[in-house]
Amino acid sequence: MSTFAGKVALVTGGTRGIGLATVQALADAGATVVLTGRDETVAKETASSVGPAVSGRALDVTDAKAVAALVKEVTKEHGRLDVAVANAGIMEGGLLGMIRPDDVDRTLATNVAGTLHTVQAAARAMMRKKTGSIVVLASVVGEYGSAGQTVYAASKAAVANIARSAAKELGRSGIRVNAVAPGVIETALTESLSEDARASNIAKTPLGRLGQAGEVAAVIRFLASDEASFVTGQVLGIDGGLVL
Ligand code: NDP
Repeated sequence: MSTFAGKVALVTGGTRGIGLATVQALADAGATVVLTGRDETVAKETASSVGPAVSGRALDVTDAKAVAALVKEVTKEHGRLDVAVANAGIMEGGLLGMIRPDDVDRTLATNVAGTLHTVQAAARAMMRKKTGSIVVLASVVGEYGSAGQTVYAASKAAVANIARSAAKELGRSGIRVNAVAPGVIETALTESLSEDARASNIAKTPLGRLGQAGEVAAVIRFLASDEASFVTGQVLGIDGGLVL
């Protein structure tokens, strides 16, 4: 396993699910990790449950100024930022006829603008040392679409293109930017899926099951690590073969 000893990582939306599994994976590999969530108490309690090298901070990624301020504070406190995982995301909307303007606003503000704010702030911090790795959370539905998830799919297509565009722009500064595109992973986000939807996804997946948060975290950690030193601008599927 690649070591993250001496490295500092930021994971947005690290209070549960894929974000928390990523925090754990990076901390296990020796990183100092700052996780965020919207509630300060939850963020701090989650961090202390992982270990002494992890701290928790309150952050709403829709607030560009707050994201910039947090990244500045983390960089000042720890002297560097090596890894940023723009993981915070929500899934709202539903069938086309049911989508409300608020669903669109909240989803785009969190998934698209929130990711953009995080990538922008992290890139500013990493540019000083001319090295760093950023990973963003896209989705298989961002590449292929999904009935009943139009808003979410649109937001995740945007996230994939944030990774590709930022990779082109930041490569000369030594900063890599990649996306992961998970299939259906068992977290709070997918708890509301009907039994029919779960069964149908499992039936379409060659590996014959849904994914676990730790399986996504392991790939994020690889992309964040020096082992992926010539990988940038990629959108890597983690879906058990669902899209084949
Ligand atoms: P969860 O709902 O389990 O976790 C979402 C995390 O995002 C929480 O930590 C939550 O923290 C945080 N969050 C939500 N809104 C905000 C906000 N405005 N500001 C800051 N933090 C916020 O989701 P998953 O772990 O399943 O998903 C993580 C990412 O992976 C998301 O981007 C999701 O779209 C993506 N993904 C997930 C898939 C899946 O099947 N689970 C498939 C494909 C992609 P808190 O509530 O404490 O603020």
